[in-house]
Amino acid sequence: MNPVVPPLPPDLTPLQLERALQLLGQSGRTPPEGEPGSPPWLQGLSDALVDLSSRDALTGLANRRAFEMSLGREIDRVARSGEPALLLGLDIDHFKRVNDTHGHAAGDRVLSAVASALIDSVRPMDLVARVGGEEFAIILPNCASAFGEAVAERVRRRVESMPVAIAPNQQISVTVSIGGAFAPQWVRSTPALWVERADQQLYRAKAQGRNVVRLEPTAVSVVSNEERRLLFETFQPQDHE
Ligand code: GH3
Ligand code: MG
Ligand code: MG
Repeated sequence: MNPVVPPLPPDLTPLQLERALQLLGQSGRTPPEGEPGSPPWLQGLSDALVDLSSRDALTGLANRRAFEMSLGREIDRVARSGEPALLLGLDIDHFKRVNDTHGHAAGDRVLSAVASALIDSVRPMDLVARVGGEEFAIILPNCASAFGEAVAERVRRRVESMPVAIAPNQQISVTVSIGGAFAPQWVRSTPALWVERADQQLYRAKAQGRNVVRLEPTAVSVVSNEERRLLFETFQPQDHE
């Protein structure tokens, strides 16, 4: 059941709305359409605030919170439908050098350019997120294991071949290392386990020279003990420790 939201004290209400509008303005969003205070206007305001709280301010990508929510939903879907899904973890190679050599503003430009390259190299149904400073993740629902490597390679090449303008007449290029893991099909995993698997592969990609893709050998054979336990508990809830 939804929690009951107590009404705000009347003198606070206009203040909260003003703050909400201020936040939207600061983020470059337009105020909602319609008569201020009317139900459609309030709905528009609420939608805009939800959007604001789920995006990374620099790149406009989904932020870590939105990513984690999507990951949970995707795990449910894979467990229910058996559809394969791939999680890619990406990390810009030697990004510290970019900041150190060209400055933080150039670094920010690189982050935005990489974000666009990632969006451009996947399908609209895929979720691209910025999950840390120079770390990104992509959730690819319904991605068959036979295609995983090709998709990840396409993303890697796209970034590698993209010139980033960091100043008038100055371009640089960057690369990313990519690690990936499929969600175990028909098994209810956890977001943390799935992320950990993709991270392990990302670590391998870094260790093996960077600017490479490493995917976990596929699905069913790699169900972990913890996932087995989760599956077991689903059928024998009375056996909980
Ligand atoms: P590796 O190839 O091992 O990933 O090396 P790296 O230099 O990319 O990794 P490291 O983790 O040492 O450096 C990440 C850098 O990212 C350090 C930090 O200053 C920078 N960074 C994090 N967030 C931002 C940001 O929002 N803007 C800019 N410009 N830099 C950022
Ligand atoms: Mg990093
Ligand atoms: Mg890095």
